[in-house]
Amino acid sequence: MNLDSPIHDIKGIGPERAKFISSVLGIYTVEDFLTFYPLRYIDKSRIVKVGDLKEEPDAEIQLRGKITDLQEIVYGKGNKRLTAKFRDETGTLELVWFRYSKWMKEQIPINRELFIFGKVNLFNGNFSMAHPEIETDEKKALSGTLLPIYPGSERLSKRGINNKFFQNVLFEILRNLPSLTEENLPASLMKNLKLMGRIQAFYNIHFPKDLAYFEQANRRLKFEEAFFFQLGYGLKKQHHKTSVAGNPFPIVGENFNQFYDHFLPFELTNAQKRVLKEIRNDMKKPVQMNRLLQGDVGSGKTMVALLSMLIAMDNGFQSCMMAPTEILAQQHFNGISELLENTNIKVRLLTGSTKTAERKIIHDELLSGELSILVGTHAVLEDVVQFRKLGLAIIDEQHRFGVAQRAKLWAKNKIPPHILVMTATPIPRTLAMSFYSDLDVSIIDEMPVGRKPIITAHRREKDRLTVFRFAKEEIDKGRQVYFVYPLIEESETLDYKNLMENLEHIIEFFADENVTMLHGRMKPEEKEANMKYFASGKAQIMVATTVIEVGVNVPNASVMVIESAERFGLSQLHQLRGRVGRGAEQSYCILLTSDKLTTESRTRIKTMTETNDGFRISEVDMQLRGPGDILGTQQSGVVDFKKLDLVQDGNIIKTAKSVVEQLIEKDPHLQNPENASLRNYYIKQYKGKNKWGRIS
Ligand code: ADP
Ligand code: MG
Repeated sequence: MNLDSPIHDIKGIGPERAKFISSVLGIYTVEDFLTFYPLRYIDKSRIVKVGDLKEEPDAEIQLRGKITDLQEIVYGKGNKRLTAKFRDETGTLELVWFRYSKWMKEQIPINRELFIFGKVNLFNGNFSMAHPEIETDEKKALSGTLLPIYPGSERLSKRGINNKFFQNVLFEILRNLPSLTEENLPASLMKNLKLMGRIQAFYNIHFPKDLAYFEQANRRLKFEEAFFFQLGYGLKKQHHKTSVAGNPFPIVGENFNQFYDHFLPFELTNAQKRVLKEIRNDMKKPVQMNRLLQGDVGSGKTMVALLSMLIAMDNGFQSCMMAPTEILAQQHFNGISELLENTNIKVRLLTGSTKTAERKIIHDELLSGELSILVGTHAVLEDVVQFRKLGLAIIDEQHRFGVAQRAKLWAKNKIPPHILVMTATPIPRTLAMSFYSDLDVSIIDEMPVGRKPIITAHRREKDRLTVFRFAKEEIDKGRQVYFVYPLIEESETLDYKNLMENLEHIIEFFADENVTMLHGRMKPEEKEANMKYFASGKAQIMVATTVIEVGVNVPNASVMVIESAERFGLSQLHQLRGRVGRGAEQSYCILLTSDKLTTESRTRIKTMTETNDGFRISEVDMQLRGPGDILGTQQSGVVDFKKLDLVQDGNIIKTAKSVVEQLIEKDPHLQNPENASLRNYYIKQYKGKNKWGRIS
C-alpha cells in the first residue's frame, strides 16, 4: 500500500464498497482518505451541567446525573414513546425515545448516578435530548480524548459506512503511515515556524491527543497547503521572469511628455505616480510585464492606464484596453478620446456592435500601425483583429480572464505584449495573495484630493417620500440623481415591468424634471443616446438597472438612490455608489430597503453606511459570500483547499507567501539538499501525478 493505492487495498474495503465510496465521497486513493478530515471532534472528557445548557444545534455533549420518572406515553393509534427526566444538581432535562424495544426500556437504569451523551434540542423553551447514549462506567464515560466525527450521510450509513467505519479505516492507514509518507518541509523552516512534523500532524488531526495537539496539527496542515500552493505560483512567476521575453520600452518620449505637460487635467496623486513608476520599471525590461493594478472605485486607474499606453506608443508600439461590458468600453473610449482631444493620437472603439465599415477601418489601421490605441470588449480578442506591433494589453475587469483568453492576447504579437490587469473593485487580501500570486501587484491606496467622502444612509420604504423630497432639493441645487433598481435574471419580464412602474412614479413626482432611462433590453445606440442625454445635464434623473454599475462617469450626479438595496451584493453596492462622489459636490448614497431584513443583508447595509473603503468592504464581502463566489465561476474550483480557509487564514497565507519568496530567491531551482524532500513532493504533487482513477 502507498498513498496512490486505490482504496480497495485498505483492509476492510472490498471493490464494491470502494466503488460506492468513490462515487459518493470522491475518495479514490489512500491519500484521499488520509486527507478526509473530521468535521469536528467530540470531547467526552468534559461534563456539562444542565443549568449551563445553551442552544447549540448539533453539538454533542455529556452530562452526569440521574434518570427519573421513566414513563411510556401512548398516543394516536398504537403510537408510543418513552420519556424520562434527567436531573443533576443544577436542573432537569427531558429525555425521549421514539424507537425502543421492551428489553431496552427495562435496561434503562433509574435513580442511579450515570452519564448521558447526545445532542440537546430546545423545544417550547425546554431542553430535551432524544435517544441519549447511556454509560454507567465512569472510566469509559470520561475517555479523555477527542473523538473524530467524519462527514457522513444516511445514504452512507445504510451501507455500513458510518463514523465507526471511518475511524477504523483511518486507524488502519495511520498505523502504516511512517512507511507511506515522509516530511516534505525543510527542517530549518519547521524549526523557525514551530511547525509540527507531517506524520505527527496526520495522527493528531484524526485522533488528537488533546486540544493543543489538534491545534498544532491543524496549523501544520494548513500551512503545508498554503506553502505548496504558493510554491506553485512562485515557481511559475520565477520561470516567467527568466524565460518569457518581452518588448523593452526604454523611452519616455514625446507622446507621454506632451500629454503630461500640457493636457493632464489634474495633478496625479502620489499613489498614481508610484504605480506608474512600477509599471514603467517593468516595461523597461526585456521581460513581459504581468501586473495587477488594484485600486478602489474612483481612485483613478484609467489615467494610469492611459499614461502607460502613451509610453508604449513612445516606443513604437500599439496598445489595447479591454473592458467586460460594452457600456464600460464606451465610457473608457469617451474618456480617453476626450483626454487626447488636443493631441493627434488616434483612438478607436471595437465592440460587438461596431459596424462592418468601421471594423474594416480598424482592422486596416491596426495592421498599418496608424492606430495606436484600441479600446474594446472581448471583440478585440477575435482572430481577425491583428496588430502591427501590440506592446501593451490592459484588461479592466471584475473577474480574472480565463487562460484561453489570455493565450489569445499573448498570441497577438510575436513577443507577447505587456499585460496590465485592473480590478474594478479591490479584492480581499488573501485572494490577491493567492490567486493573483503569479502577478506583481500595484496598489493605488489614495483617492484624488478634494473628494468629499460620500455620505451613505439607510432608509426604509416608509421614508420614500422624504427620500424623493431630498432628491428634489439636490436637483434644485443643480445636481443630478440616479435611481437604481435590481434585476433578477430569472424573471427579466417581471423586473422590466417593475422598472416601468417605478419610472411612472418618478415621472409623476418629478414632474418638472427630465427623466431618462438605462436598462439591459435597450439597443446600444439607445443606451448611448440616453447616457449622453444624462451626461450632458439635459436630464436630471437617470433611472437604471445595474447596467450602470461599472464605468459610468457623470461628475455632476451627486445622489444615488438604490432601490431594494437588500437585493444587491456588497461589491455591487460599492460599485454603484462609486458612480457618485466624482465631482466637487457633497454626494449621497441612499439605500432604500423593505422593513424586514435578513441578518446578512443587514450586515451588508450596515457595512455600506459605515465605510467607503473598498478594501474593507471586500473583506466583509468574502466573509459573507465565501471566496468562491468572489472569484467568480471561472475560478471557483481552485478554492478547493482541504484545510486552508481563505477567510480566516490570512496570516498563514501571508507567512507561506513570504517564506516561499525567500526560498525561491535563495534556491530558484530547489537544488539545495535541504530542499530535496520539498522538491520531490512538489514534483510528485504537481507534475504527472497519477490521477487517472479520477478521470476514468
Ligand atoms: P477608477 O479607478 O474607478 O477606474 P477613474 O479612472 O474612472 O477611477 O477615475 C475616477 C475619476 O477621478 C475620473 O473622473 C478621473 O478623471 C478623476 N481622477 C483620476 N485621477 C485624478 C487625480 N489625480 N486628481 C483628480 N481627479 C482624478
Ligand atoms: Mg474604472
